[in-house]
Amino acid sequence: MTGGLHITADAATATATATAADADADVDVVVVGGGAAGLSAALTLTRARRSVLVIDSGEPRNAPASGVHGYLSRDGLPPGELLRAGREEVTGYGGRIVTDLVTGARRDGERFVVDTAAGGRFTARRLLVTTGLVDRLPDVPGLRELWGRDVLHCPYCHGWEVRDAPIGVLATGPWAAHQALLFRQWSPDVTVFLHTAGDLTDEQWEQLAARGIAVVDGEVVGLDTDGGGLSGVRLASGARVPVRALAVAPRFEARGEVAAELGLTSVDHPMGMGSHVESDASGFTGVAGVWVAGNVTDLMAGVAVSAASGMQAAIAINADLMAADTAEAVARRAAAPARVPFDPAAEPPPANGSSVNAGTASAP
Ligand SMILES: Cc1cc2nc3c(=O)[nH]c(=O)nc-3n(C[C@H](O)[C@H](O)[C@H](O)COP(=O)(O)OP(=O)(O)OC[C@H]3O[C@@H](n4cnc5c(N)ncnc54)[C@H](O)[C@@H]3O)c2cc1C
Repeated sequence: MTGGLHITADAATATATATAADADADVDVVVVGGGAAGLSAALTLTRARRSVLVIDSGEPRNAPASGVHGYLSRDGLPPGELLRAGREEVTGYGGRIVTDLVTGARRDGERFVVDTAAGGRFTARRLLVTTGLVDRLPDVPGLRELWGRDVLHCPYCHGWEVRDAPIGVLATGPWAAHQALLFRQWSPDVTVFLHTAGDLTDEQWEQLAARGIAVVDGEVVGLDTDGGGLSGVRLASGARVPVRALAVAPRFEARGEVAAELGLTSVDHPMGMGSHVESDASGFTGVAGVWVAGNVTDLMAGVAVSAASGMQAAIAINADLMAADTAEAVARRAAAPARVPFDPAAEPPPANGSSVNAGTASAP
């Protein structure tokens, strides 16, 4: 370890972070990505007395949103605040957090080698990838600027905030009717803009009509704003339809390329909504020593589910490390030249007078 620890007041998170040069180069677990999934995993691992380094490039997916909704006991908390608190908890247990971009990860014997854009190189026994996903937005002028505020994708995240308001649904694929029917739960004033999606099925026409959802044909060419907020949708025909919010279906693309050298790849999601890195319920990827958690593997996960999956992966990683530590200790013990076979009768009585502790049997 070189140099002292630099404590920087990061404007976004106002938390203490170590620079790449300060962090220990070798740890039990490198966590790539410090969003809800990565920080939750790091918290569990540091509390399990594992050395942990979180490397995070500081672009959490929900950054444009004003609040995190549906996270029990923290509903509405600004996303940066949640991460600041999480970082404080992780560093409080001795975890280290580096602000940097991981550019690649490879295996070198028993270790993973992780490289960063700032020239950092770290080694770890296990790797957890929680890099999240990128929302590929429909290409409509003015849409990106309103993303996360008035241009929305998730009714559970933002539905309450736009309840009873006129809501448009921009159709770009087969999910538009489903999304419109969902948003209908929050507002009686929902309009589907067919845009580039093609026609609806007969069943969808029936369903939308039955729920009082309007359908507008024609391509959307722009969005109107009033005082910075969305006020309407402009069509190629020149018509303008007033809406206060516009629901879109971005393509969700997992940021899975970071571990491509290890054989980890993003594959098309079976429901056609983007790409993700496949894993089992614990986040194990099938590549020895590598786990994933959060949106990189589960495109639909909100903050609470992402945090929970991070914790689950951390528990699986700790169990895997425990198994490796135990196998190593057993091998060392077996190889010891003056090995005394374990015999409870030969053990000294334990200090508290209780039963014999096999763990004190003999020197390894
Ligand atoms: C606009 C919007 C609003 C939302 N609102 C809500 C809501 O109200 N409630 C809710 O439950 N969910 C909400 N979500 C979903 C929420 O954003 C995700 O559930 C959550 O961010 C997933 O957490 P994560 O840790 O998997 O990924 P992220 O939060 O995206 O974190 C991933 C982290 O990894 C970092 N990273 C990526 N690549 C690298 C790399 N190569 N090296 C180092 N670091 C890297 C990123 O910079 C980022 O900090 C919203 C999503 C959007 C888009």
